[in-house]
Amino acid sequence: MPESGARKIILPSKYVQGPGVLNQLGTFVKQYGERPYAVSGRTSFSKVRARIQSSLLAAGVPLAGFDDSVTESTKAKIEAIASKAEELDVDLIVACGGGKAVDTGKGVGERLHVPIISVPTQCATNADGMADVVIFSEDHKFIEDLYLSRPPVLVLVDTEVVARAPPQYIVQGMGDALACAFEKPAYAATQRAKKAGELATNAALEVNMRCFSTLMTHGLQAKKDVEAGKITESVEAVVEAIKLQSGFGFGGGGCAAAHAIHNGFTMIPGIRRKHGEIVAFGTLVQMVLEKRPMGEIERVVRWCRSLGLPTRLADLGTVDRRRLHEVAEKACDPNDSMTSMPFPVSPMMVVEAIEEVDRLAGLMD
Ligand SMILES: [Zn+2]
Repeated sequence: MPESGARKIILPSKYVQGPGVLNQLGTFVKQYGERPYAVSGRTSFSKVRARIQSSLLAAGVPLAGFDDSVTESTKAKIEAIASKAEELDVDLIVACGGGKAVDTGKGVGERLHVPIISVPTQCATNADGMADVVIFSEDHKFIEDLYLSRPPVLVLVDTEVVARAPPQYIVQGMGDALACAFEKPAYAATQRAKKAGELATNAALEVNMRCFSTLMTHGLQAKKDVEAGKITESVEAVVEAIKLQSGFGFGGGGCAAAHAIHNGFTMIPGIRRKHGEIVAFGTLVQMVLEKRPMGEIERVVRWCRSLGLPTRLADLGTVDRRRLHEVAEKACDPNDSMTSMPFPVSPMMVVEAIEEVDRLAGLMD
C-alpha cells in the first residue's frame, strides 16, 4: 500500500432517473440476467408490482419469484430470503422499496453473488446506489454496516413513483442528504491525516458539496411541488441530489458525526422521528462540534425548519435529557463513525453540542 494512500471511488454502474423509467426495467434486467427475483416490502411492492411484472414479461425475463415481506433490514431476513431465492436459481436481484427493503435486497444479492438492481419507491434514503447494507436488530437498533463486494449495477428511479409517495419521504431524504456536505469532507480530511490506505477522490467530494447547494436552492420548492402532486425541475433536481449526489463515490462509507449521533439517538426511547430527520439534527450537532460560523449554522437551521426537519430536542420526540449521555456514549463508540471526525470528540462534547443546537434553535423561535 503506498504511504500516502490510494484514491478510491465506488459507484453504481448505471443511474437512470425520470418519469416512467420503470417501464424500461425489463430491458435493463436482460443485460445482466435471466432469472430476476424481487425483494421488497408489502406496501411498496403493491404500488409497482404490476409494472415490474409486465416490463419483465415484455422483455422475456419474467420474475423467477419475489419476497415482499421485508419490514426491517436484519441478518436473519437476508439469510431467509437468500435461501429461498437460491433454490430458484436466481441470477439477479431487484431490490425494491424504501431503505430497509433495498438494503435487504442488496444483502441477498451479495449473499448469492448476483448483480443487484435498485428500484426505489420513495426518497427517504440514498440506500439505492450505496455499496453497503445497514443491519438493524428486530427492534430497529443499529447493529452494523456490511460492505458489498460490488455496488448495484443499476439504480432505476422513476420520479412518477417516488414523487407520488407521501411528501414526508422526500423531506426525510433531504435531511439524510444534508449530512453528506459535512460528513464527507470530515471523513476525507481524517483519512488524509491518518495517511489511510484509501482516500476520497476530489470528484466525490465535489459532487457531495453540489448536493448541498441543490438542497438549499430547490429543497423547499421540491417539497411544495410534491405536496401539490407536480413533478417539476426542482423535484427532479432534489431527487437526483438525494439518490445520486448524496454519498456519491463513497459506496456507503464516509459517514462522520451526523450519522454517529443518529445512531446514538436510536438507543433511547421516545424518539419519534425517522432516519433522515434525526440525521439532519445530527448534522447541526456536527456543525457545532466543528465550530462552524454562526451564520452558516443559522442558515441550515432555518432551512431545516422551513421543511419541518427537527432543530430542537423536543422536535425529536419526548427526550429525557438525563439520557443524553447514553446517546453521546453510543455516538462515540469506537466502532461508530465519530472516529471519522478530524479531531477527537468526547461524549461530553457531544452532550454539550446537542444542548447548544437546542439552545440556538430556541433563540430563533
Ligand atoms: Zn443516512
